Amino acid sequence: MFSSYLGSEDFDFILYHVRRTTATVLVHSFIPLGYYFGLAFASEKVDLLDPAKSGQFASIVLLIGLSSAFCGILTAKLWSWNNWKHHPLCKALASHGRTWMEVAAQINIEFRRIDKFYAVSGGCGVYVTDSWILKTSTYQVYVSQQTDSHLSIAASDQFAFSHETNQPTQYISIVVNSINPAVKPFTLRLNSLDYGELKDRLQAPLRNARNIVIHQSLSDRFVDAFKEQVRANGRYRLGSEMPDPEPCIGCMLTPANIKLQKNCGSTGENECRGCFCRPMWCIDCMGKWFASRQDQNDPLSWMSSLSPCPTCRSKFCMLDVCLIEN
Ligand SMILES: [Zn+2]
Ligand SMILES: [Zn+2]
Ligand SMILES: [Zn+2]
Repeated sequence: MFSSYLGSEDFDFILYHVRRTTATVLVHSFIPLGYYFGLAFASEKVDLLDPAKSGQFASIVLLIGLSSAFCGILTAKLWSWNNWKHHPLCKALASHGRTWMEVAAQINIEFRRIDKFYAVSGGCGVYVTDSWILKTSTYQVYVSQQTDSHLSIAASDQFAFSHETNQPTQYISIVVNSINPAVKPFTLRLNSLDYGELKDRLQAPLRNARNIVIHQSLSDRFVDAFKEQVRANGRYRLGSEMPDPEPCIGCMLTPANIKLQKNCGSTGENECRGCFCRPMWCIDCMGKWFASRQDQNDPLSWMSSLSPCPTCRSKFCMLDVCLIEN
């Protein structure tokens, strides 16, 4: 209904949500008045032209409707006055030490990047960009700078079936606290299958003090086990004449930190071979690659299986994956 007024969320995230929340408050504030008009059409007792003649109930509905609409208009006026300076979201942005427009510009730039985390459920959106944690709800937008934040898993609830996926689903609630006193704590609620990806995008610490068991996707659980095994393996020393590793060619985010090197004792035709590729992958991407090469119907066999090197195709097992040490 308001899409031309709201603009594009991808292009100007902040202004879009400033306008969206204002339009929502305004439209919702007119609902009681709409109810009164509905009443007038449905019942002959209510006289639109002469409310004094209508019954007491209709008068009360009219009074509530008018005051609610008045409050809605007043709120929208106040928020939009002086170039949105008084909108709660703009005030929240301004509490980060710069003008709200400078902070908004930074968030908008980061939001346009494709590597942000986002998950939408039940009318709320959760977004994590390089330096911000954002949550959008019907009337409000919450913002917290990653460097100021610490997160903790507060609760989880499970549903036998979710209407979104038609599968057993676990939702987890994560409370975001900030050392910035102007940022009030807020709760992110998301599907546990999105948890692994969220964790990857967070720089802020995330605690699970109550040891809540999180049902991650099969691939995420495997990557966790893969990383644990790799950390227990020997390290690969990068000689001083070797250049520093380039960014991982899988994610382009972290420097490559994996070298494949035959460490297991296996021999024979179908066994591990040495790989002479230079380090090109990070541990997360190598774990995901390894998982993708396995029999998807037999997860129990994954830990003891082989995978081809993504570059030279020589086979390796989990014992042959070494973290790089400078
Ligand atoms: Zn990577
Ligand atoms: Zn190789
Ligand atoms: Zn091996």
